[in-house]
Amino acid sequence: MQDRHIGDVRVTRIEEISGPGFPAKDFFPEFEPETFKSHEHWMAPGYYQPESGRLIRSIHSWLIRTGKHTILVDACSGNHKNRPGMPGFHMLDTKYLDRLREAGVAPEEVDFVMCTHLHVDHVGWNTRLENGKWVPTFPNARYVMSRVDHDHWAKVAKTSGSPEYEVNTYNDSVLPIVEAKMAEFVAGGEHAMCGCLKLKPAPGHTPGQIRIDLESKGKRAMFPGDALHSPLQVPVWRWNSRFCDDRDLAAKTRGALLADCAEQGALLMPAHFGSPHAAYIKAKGDRFELDWDHDNARGR
Ligand SMILES: [Zn+2]
Repeated sequence: MQDRHIGDVRVTRIEEISGPGFPAKDFFPEFEPETFKSHEHWMAPGYYQPESGRLIRSIHSWLIRTGKHTILVDACSGNHKNRPGMPGFHMLDTKYLDRLREAGVAPEEVDFVMCTHLHVDHVGWNTRLENGKWVPTFPNARYVMSRVDHDHWAKVAKTSGSPEYEVNTYNDSVLPIVEAKMAEFVAGGEHAMCGCLKLKPAPGHTPGQIRIDLESKGKRAMFPGDALHSPLQVPVWRWNSRFCDDRDLAAKTRGALLADCAEQGALLMPAHFGSPHAAYIKAKGDRFELDWDHDNARGR
């Protein structure tokens, strides 16, 4: 298990899937071959597979243990979910919950599930299949999600012609949580939680995405959800992913949170970076660089 300590808080990565994903040229709408080429050398092998041209992505949760609370940031894709047109998420059967237990946490022990946003690869383990019904995987947790995102995806699920996998994602992984009255909605501004967490709006990738800032004993980390998918989006921070809803806003949010990370000395802990899975950020004017060496970020 890859544990990190941010002050008194322990953070563990719980992996669901990792390996080659989209071809880089298809993943970034703003892709330019020359720019990409100039970064290939540091992207391989942890973040890019040159022989296939594909980006390496991981889908993982971050498990936060404060001593008082156990918090899961994002809930990956889930098992046995019907995701037409999305073969990477369709009818998975992974050992995710076993990995959580190996890290020392049973589903009953999770106090909060933080949904940075409500995409298919962030809410899947919110629920699991039991006797043909979708039930909350974490029976004692409050599930924290953005009101704006919730209302957006609830509407998508009711709109005829919406992609079937999006309709299913809401209906099998979000709605059962709402119906069980286990959802905690946040809207606008900042929200403090558990004495060390702050939720802040990070819209653009989805309409209501939230980021989570952690501070303990003067040490900081940031969980940006999918404000960025690939570490390439640190030096090339204006490039969006194909899944960003509002590209101008997504880029603005990305630039702002990278600037915050650099200024605060926060460890950036995104949901999909390959290995190394987290990095510090250095600012040089309006440019940003990854810094893995500070505090041994690389290889841990
Ligand atoms: Zn994602």
